[in-house]
Amino acid sequence: MESIYNLKLNDLENFLINNGGKKYQAAQVFDWLYKKRITKFKDMTNLNKETIKLLELNFQIDELEIVKKQSAEQTHKYLFKLSDGSLIEAVLMMHNYGNSICVSSQVGCNMGCLFCESGKLKKVRNLLPSEMILPILMIEKDLNLRISSVVIMGIGEPFDNYLNVIKFIEIINEPKYLSIGARHITVSTCGVVPKIKEFSDFPLQVNLAISFHAPDDKLRSELMKINKVYNIAELIDSIKEYILKTNRRVTIEYVMIDNVNDKDEQAKSLAKLFKGLNVYINLIPYNETSDPSFKKSKRIMQFYDILKKENINVTVRREFGGDIDAACGQLKAKEVNE
Ligand code: SF4
Repeated sequence: MESIYNLKLNDLENFLINNGGKKYQAAQVFDWLYKKRITKFKDMTNLNKETIKLLELNFQIDELEIVKKQSAEQTHKYLFKLSDGSLIEAVLMMHNYGNSICVSSQVGCNMGCLFCESGKLKKVRNLLPSEMILPILMIEKDLNLRISSVVIMGIGEPFDNYLNVIKFIEIINEPKYLSIGARHITVSTCGVVPKIKEFSDFPLQVNLAISFHAPDDKLRSELMKINKVYNIAELIDSIKEYILKTNRRVTIEYVMIDNVNDKDEQAKSLAKLFKGLNVYINLIPYNETSDPSFKKSKRIMQFYDILKKENINVTVRREFGGDIDAACGQLKAKEVNE
């Protein structure tokens, strides 16, 4: 049966109107689901019996099973089981400005980035909006806190599951309910150029991050298969177009790998690519995995200094959860291999 969490407010309004209910009841249901966190239709006491029956016959209020949880000081990593037995993960990070969650968008991922554990787990299927929303609700309940920002940066390529991701964003952004502000939502893509173009027409002011990781086509194609389809020139053109249309700053993610992409010349080439563009480059210390071919760079600050000198906006991401495997896909990879 369809999860009620797959519906936007106006989907539920239309459903009720078309099935003998009233439009305003959709707001009441959303209030029970997202504010009062009720998990049974029969407990929605301001709905009449007919509406409760109608909802029960057509939708379920589902939950996810927590299979595993790993916690370090400010990071909690969850592995959830979906109704078909698939496993997904989500990571909660506590910052001094609020709690942020990293959600997955697919079961597995076909993008095959060389440095990524998830890339080794082939895509099984796309996640539904409900399967991206439920980790938020489950973690909020488990830790008794509220989540104020969402990054879609877990397992999967969000733009390979475009429509479900868009719907997910619209539902969590719905004012009065989860109400997570668009500016507190970030979508991260490895560079699916046509979807970056499409996303520039999306009316909500959501943040866009691009996983970049290499300043030349040869290296980028070795590290990220997507570069063989859309090369750096095409990707940068789409970023320029996005900035022009939305007037929004784009984040460029650059994971720093020892002796692979951390040399001075590479910092200079990267600066050249983005000079004058409204971007900021986020240098991410590589989270070492079981794969011995990649190690964390020891040159992050030298790289940072070169970019700074070239007047590029640059930050170094604080390390989260290296000790609890909170890097993209790592908890899941372990569980599957065990
Ligand atoms: S880095 Fe992201 S896009 Fe690349 S393989 Fe991993 S999950 Fe997929």
